Amino acid sequence: MLTDFHVHVIAHGEYRYSQEWLQQYIEKALEKNVGVIGFVDHDEYIGQMDFALVKKLAENYNNIQIRHGLEVDYIPGRDDAIKRLVAGNDFDFIIGSVHFIEKWAFDHPDYHHIFQTQDLMDIYVKYYRLVEEAALSGWFDIIGHLDLVKIWGCKLRPEQNLKLVEQVLQSVKKAGAVIEINSGGLRKPVQEIYPSFDIIQRMYELNIPICLSSDAHQPDHTGYEVEKAGQLAKKAGYRYLTVFFRRTKSYVPF
Ligand SMILES: [Zn+2]
Ligand SMILES: [Zn+2]
Repeated sequence: MLTDFHVHVIAHGEYRYSQEWLQQYIEKALEKNVGVIGFVDHDEYIGQMDFALVKKLAENYNNIQIRHGLEVDYIPGRDDAIKRLVAGNDFDFIIGSVHFIEKWAFDHPDYHHIFQTQDLMDIYVKYYRLVEEAALSGWFDIIGHLDLVKIWGCKLRPEQNLKLVEQVLQSVKKAGAVIEINSGGLRKPVQEIYPSFDIIQRMYELNIPICLSSDAHQPDHTGYEVEKAGQLAKKAGYRYLTVFFRRTKSYVPF
């Protein structure tokens, strides 16, 4: 059985919650052999999430488990806002993601030229420091797309990258968080799963739990290449996937 714990309903504001819309994702998940689907949205859309609808669908389907989560932007100084988001709602899981380096939306196509104007090592150091802070905050069940900074294909040498990421992994382990194996990078210029295979191997050595995700932003992306993500994890040694229900983890073989 596969899982997909990162499926956006509202995406970037283009879509709305409706039974018909969510069912399209669920049908696609079933087609892709996804046994647990986790709907999420970016925290700025929290007011548009329909909790009752997800609960209703979860009750109606008995051939797939349906979970509801939130993808939170980790930005230093947002502590109180994040605490309110995380504590005040009935989520099964919370993903903590870094999309901004000092107000720079580095993963946004409009701003990717900034990679050419700054020192790449500097960018990576700053990015990973933020991911580490997010993990150590203890607010998040899942760390989203761990090496998203490679999205445009601007990469450090693998050994440099692995050295930098080591401290992040140690902190994730200390915090007890899960790292998603996110196939969304295959749809981006980097054409790679997040995180890269050498990082997944190190995660396995450190016994850091994983979950699978597609980062779908439309029904068609549901379960997209999560099988490939799972194969990569298996190749590194993983035999269990983490699933979430009411902020509690359990593990299923895959
Ligand atoms: Zn994200
Ligand atoms: Zn996402």
